[in-house]
Amino acid sequence: MNTKEYIQNLRDELREHNYNYYVLDNPTISDFDFDSKLKELQDLEAKHPEFYDANSPSLRVGGEVTKNFNTVVHEHRMYSLDNSYSLEDLQDWEARIKKMVDGPIQYTCELKYDGASISLTYENGSLLRAVTRGDGMQGDEVTANIKTIKSVPLQLKGSYPAKFDIRGEIVLPFEGFNKMNEERIDIGEEPYRNPRNTASGSLKLQDSAEVAKRPLECLLYNITGDNLGIATQMESLEKARQMGFKVPEAAKLANSIDQVLAFVNYWDTERHNLPYETDGVVVKVNDLQQQEELGYTAKAPRWAMAYKFKAEQVSTRLNSISYQVGRTGAITPVANLEPVELAGTTVKRASLHNSDQIEKLDVRVGDEVFVEKGGEIIPKIIAVDFTKRPSDSQPTQYITHCPECNTPLERLEGEAKHFCPNYTGCKPQIVGRIQHYISRKAMDIEGLGGETVALLVSAGLITNYADLYTLTKEQVMPLERMAEKSAENLVNGIAASKQIPFERVLFALGIRYVGETVAKKLAKHYKSIDAIAKASQEELVNVDEIGIKIAESVLAFFASEENIHTIEKLRSFGVQLEVSAEKLANQTNKLENQIFVVSGVFETVSRTELKKLIEDNGGKVSSSISAKTSFIVAGDKMGPSKKAKAEKLGVPLITEQEFLQKVL
Ligand code: AMP
Ligand code: ZN
Repeated sequence: MNTKEYIQNLRDELREHNYNYYVLDNPTISDFDFDSKLKELQDLEAKHPEFYDANSPSLRVGGEVTKNFNTVVHEHRMYSLDNSYSLEDLQDWEARIKKMVDGPIQYTCELKYDGASISLTYENGSLLRAVTRGDGMQGDEVTANIKTIKSVPLQLKGSYPAKFDIRGEIVLPFEGFNKMNEERIDIGEEPYRNPRNTASGSLKLQDSAEVAKRPLECLLYNITGDNLGIATQMESLEKARQMGFKVPEAAKLANSIDQVLAFVNYWDTERHNLPYETDGVVVKVNDLQQQEELGYTAKAPRWAMAYKFKAEQVSTRLNSISYQVGRTGAITPVANLEPVELAGTTVKRASLHNSDQIEKLDVRVGDEVFVEKGGEIIPKIIAVDFTKRPSDSQPTQYITHCPECNTPLERLEGEAKHFCPNYTGCKPQIVGRIQHYISRKAMDIEGLGGETVALLVSAGLITNYADLYTLTKEQVMPLERMAEKSAENLVNGIAASKQIPFERVLFALGIRYVGETVAKKLAKHYKSIDAIAKASQEELVNVDEIGIKIAESVLAFFASEENIHTIEKLRSFGVQLEVSAEKLANQTNKLENQIFVVSGVFETVSRTELKKLIEDNGGKVSSSISAKTSFIVAGDKMGPSKKAKAEKLGVPLITEQEFLQKVL
């Protein structure tokens, strides 16, 4: 086999693995083997630029940067959909279309995925172009970004029309969305509001390598083009599946509007178990001949109808607005509401995000407001009921000074939030930083919780995290809910944290934008806090995955005398400020290629230690069970749903002792 053929085979093989993993959810090789094959391909492609292929699986990792997206006119317009909200609406629609076509009508029922619509053009089996919906007539070409989404085939399987467009929705599954948000919260950034906006924002990122990191998926629902050799929408879905696209299995044929309604009713509750957001059902006339006869209105096809699930929404009174100060000093306005039932929970508060949002809604204390619960964790106010506004109501004046320390607020260019610049003297910032320091993923201090930190600061016993190491049992005992035993635990817990490895100390310091992953990267690269403190901006950005924003933040942190002083104190107490020689010696590859999920409570080691053991020995820790999981280390009180999932996927459970035997 010559090199060209070899490269071609490697590409085919990787393509197939991508398909098994991302479209069928059924991988057949380990991540490790996949990665080494990919690496091999990348090396060969680098050596042989003459065999370049714009659709090589190696391009999935992204790297192409687009400054301005080209505008592309859609060959087939991307219409919007008419909406219906009741059985009557659907019956009216049926009556209208029955007058226009002959014979019985069959309908396909599909879920309406809530993401960003996309149109993909394929020519001779390979992806030519991906364009956003835009205004329906023309959109932005985002091909480089779409190529990084692994469920989008770059090369089709089986037989396919010479040229066609296929439409679908780019969605961000809840799991990936929540994970992205956890990471943002950890580095002191505002969480993203909902999966849909995050998905559509992702398509317009300039750096495709950033898009590659986001767990986006592409769900397809419609093929358009000429001479496709398909007669119905159902066949169209099936054809798309055969070509290698991800087409959800929920689609169903209905012979009457009653059957459509049964589908709607089923999914109205069942959709809460889906991995991504849906906001309704799309009903389509199944027969493409009939679709053609029905045609389009100015805005939407006559042959399709969206049925919107009822948004879970209520109206209630806004009693007051309070302002919270976060650990980075960012101010978040919060609406305090007259308690009201919404989607099974009592809602008392809603986020107002920032001053622009308040202005945009023109929301005022005393207003009756509409509250909705969408993909967000916290409900949001979507509008004011102006008909109920009291006559003496006054526009909301956004605060100008910090509600906690009275320092004038600042707002940086390009940032939506105001913040309090009083880094060293503003109590919630002081408390927040220490709370972050002791948190589970950071120093994981046993016997000390967030509320106690607040008490310790109020009592004047500590003003930064280094002060924790000066605390004595006698100082702590007089505090609320403290007794001799708990005070002792607290002091011991703090002392024990001196053993926490450097990478986690670095994360615990609370440098903005330095989350767990970045801290690991920096620790691995520089090996000590002193080396990081000395690094220049150019040096920092040269470290893998460290961008300019992170580099600037690191520099700013070490430029502060206050911070340097705190670090010196940490050093004097024996906190790990460099990678220990022992750690360097203790690492093995025993668990290479293995993915572990840790669940339950353990006897001899803590969860954190367990995870560290896995990573130190070359294994990976994952938070959720999938077909790729190698083992679940099951402790006491492991959740029943996790157990069921493990059984279903055939993932073996091992005990703590069995695990320890593997590594010790
Ligand atoms: P709207 O934006 O409310 O006018 O709804 C039209 C949009 O629904 C389309 O542009 C698609 O992006 C989206 N959509 C989601 N799921 C489907 C589906 N199964 N069939 C057709 N359109 C869908
Ligand atoms: Zn303040």
